[in-house]
Amino acid sequence: MIVLKGAEVSARIKEEVHKILAGWEKEAPKLAIVRVGENPDDMSYERGAKKKLESFGLRAESCVYPADISDEDFKNEFRKINEDPGVDGILLLRPLPKQICQKDIETMIDPAKDVDGISPVNMAKVFAGDATGFAPCTAEAVVEVLKQKDIPITGKRVVIVGRSMVVGKPLSMLMLKENATVTICHTRTRDLIETCQGAEILVAAAGKAKMLNGEYVAKDAVVVDVGINVDENGKLCGDVDFDSIQEKASMATPVPGGVGAVTTAVLAKHLVLAVAR
Ligand code: NAP
Repeated sequence: MIVLKGAEVSARIKEEVHKILAGWEKEAPKLAIVRVGENPDDMSYERGAKKKLESFGLRAESCVYPADISDEDFKNEFRKINEDPGVDGILLLRPLPKQICQKDIETMIDPAKDVDGISPVNMAKVFAGDATGFAPCTAEAVVEVLKQKDIPITGKRVVIVGRSMVVGKPLSMLMLKENATVTICHTRTRDLIETCQGAEILVAAAGKAKMLNGEYVAKDAVVVDVGINVDENGKLCGDVDFDSIQEKASMATPVPGGVGAVTTAVLAKHLVLAVAR
């Protein structure tokens, strides 16, 4: 089985970013990372995103607010960032605390700065197959892995396990745009194993540690693991039981070192596109 390493895909995206930035004379594009509270997962993603952006020659600034900030105060702060001409892109770490109406913020965000595709405008563009918007970075990262590794998508049977608005649903639309035949699975799916066995490309985005083992995987299938979980020993792992698919899959992304590394590279590409557009 060939291991599809995210670092190689990320390096190719970096080349694309540098091509767009060639001859750039202004200050490097700047991303505002908006975080409410001290959630360790958010903070870890924030550190990773900052490191990646800096390594691409881009700027990132954290805008951090207390976990108990009121809805009104947060909206006022968010409006300032949204309208700041010095901010080219915004990454909002979600979910927000319950007292803040997340839907309102998703609607408020300037679609042109919405580099993680959370606004209804960008989501509608993803569903319409209109490439002028921004898709959620993780969903796009899955397609990038396949494309950069020259894995054909057209006509393939793609099965996606997970139907969230962050990964499963937008990814199904991106795959459809690439002319795949897409099946989306979720907790009410009957015969999940048989459905997954029918996949030529299997994408795991369920958020369940090592849930998909070799039994779910057809011979020579390509497996993309979006999951980020912690196993019983406290180690980072995906939704796929990587060891058990070795004899079945032809190629698979590891966790860590797979889709996650590409997600932040896509974020960097979106930031540069936000300015270039
Ligand atoms: P989510 O909102 O919790 O959605 C999980 C989806 O998986 C739901 O649609 C759920 O079905 C389905 N599901 C859960 N258990 C299942 C099961 N036993 N059988 C079939 N379907 C099942 O999660 P998410 O935000 O999409 O994230 C998914 C995973 O990706 C998580 O591990 C997350 O940490 C990771 N992630 C990674 C990145 C990255 O950059 N690599 C970015 C974002 C998220 P129902 O709809 O029926 O509940």
